[in-house]
Amino acid sequence: MPKLAIRGGTPAKSKSFPDWPIYDDLEREALNEVLESRDWWRTEGSKTLAFEKSFAEYHQAKHGIAVTNGTHAIEVALAAMGIGPGDEVIVPNATFVATASAVLFAGALPVLVDVSADSYCIDPELAEAAINERTRAIIAVHMGGRPADLDQLEAVARKYDLALLEDAAHAHGSEWRGQKVGTFGIGGTFSFQASKTMTAGEGGMIISNDDDFERLARSTHDCGRMPGEWFYSHYIYGSNYRLSEWQGAVLLAQLTRLDEQTARRHENGRLLDRLLGEIPGITPQSHDARITRNGHYAYIFHVDARAFAGISTQQFVDALEAEGIPTQAPYPPIHTLDLFTSGAYRNRLSGAQAAANHAFLTEAFPNSQRESDETVWITQNALLGDEEDMREIAAAIGKIHQHVKDLR
Ligand SMILES: *Cc1c(COP(=O)(O)O)cnc(C)c1O
Repeated sequence: MPKLAIRGGTPAKSKSFPDWPIYDDLEREALNEVLESRDWWRTEGSKTLAFEKSFAEYHQAKHGIAVTNGTHAIEVALAAMGIGPGDEVIVPNATFVATASAVLFAGALPVLVDVSADSYCIDPELAEAAINERTRAIIAVHMGGRPADLDQLEAVARKYDLALLEDAAHAHGSEWRGQKVGTFGIGGTFSFQASKTMTAGEGGMIISNDDDFERLARSTHDCGRMPGEWFYSHYIYGSNYRLSEWQGAVLLAQLTRLDEQTARRHENGRLLDRLLGEIPGITPQSHDARITRNGHYAYIFHVDARAFAGISTQQFVDALEAEGIPTQAPYPPIHTLDLFTSGAYRNRLSGAQAAANHAFLTEAFPNSQRESDETVWITQNALLGDEEDMREIAAAIGKIHQHVKDLR
């Protein structure tokens, strides 16, 4: 009888998962090329420009604007959309802080709404219910790489004449009905931070098919300059959000592997759906036939403690890690962050909006809370493994289920 690794047994995982990040001579040569060219600055260089074009093209978007990180990508997008004091932007309560903090940075109020019980993406009906005369936009987050319900979100945005912005920081290469995410609304934002599915340590991107939005976003990211105009002409409020040539060069190399890597993560994700779906108490994040590709920033599943002798999610995670399966923590719900509970977020607001009673402070968000407390996230590098790796993940979870009494 195999014993749990956390109790001294042999780990279920026999060989290691692929390391992350992945690189080879492509990155090495690209960095050397930048070094020797002496063009280290985006403005005079060619790498970041080429990366913008290639990344946008891969996502079937007309424009790409590379920026310093994924948080700044949302900030620049909101600035280009003209979002400011007095405005409200609807954001999911289950996300990384950046989705909400970028709205505060614009001086507007992020209105938090719960996610759907099975997808952990923003619930389109709750988003619609939160709309009022101050609402300007909805931000969708494609949780773990799984696209939010873009059909319904597009319909709601159209019905109320709101902008839809996609925070696609988890979803490079993900598709909804064969169309790459990031191209459904006015713009899509991406992150190239170390944990994301393409990385240069830090970095971000805004993609769009909207020419007016692109012009304003590009200007905002480059000190309010306008393309083709004199270097010291500044037309609108902007700042310096430019990406360096080092990062552009690395990301251009990373992009060459994205399609193959996302295809593999998608396939492995569907295999895990089948394997884990057979284990009592395990419910994978819902798939949907309209998702033609899930780039899987993580593989997310729910653990029902009742099928696991009542152990805590942390005990489950500790046992899983001991079996050799890498995990990462889910996000705490946004409304529970000190930024909101302490009232500090109000310092970014002004006028009546700063003093108003904000419903999300006292609302319950059962699905965001459940996502935070009861889901387990397997890191994306594990999904770059082979079929045997997926079977070992399932075996590790099956083993915990079988021997869970040893954990109590
Ligand atoms: C990573 C992330 C961001 C921010 O990206 P950074 O590059 O770390 O600034 C925004 N939204 C989500 C959902 C993220 O996971």
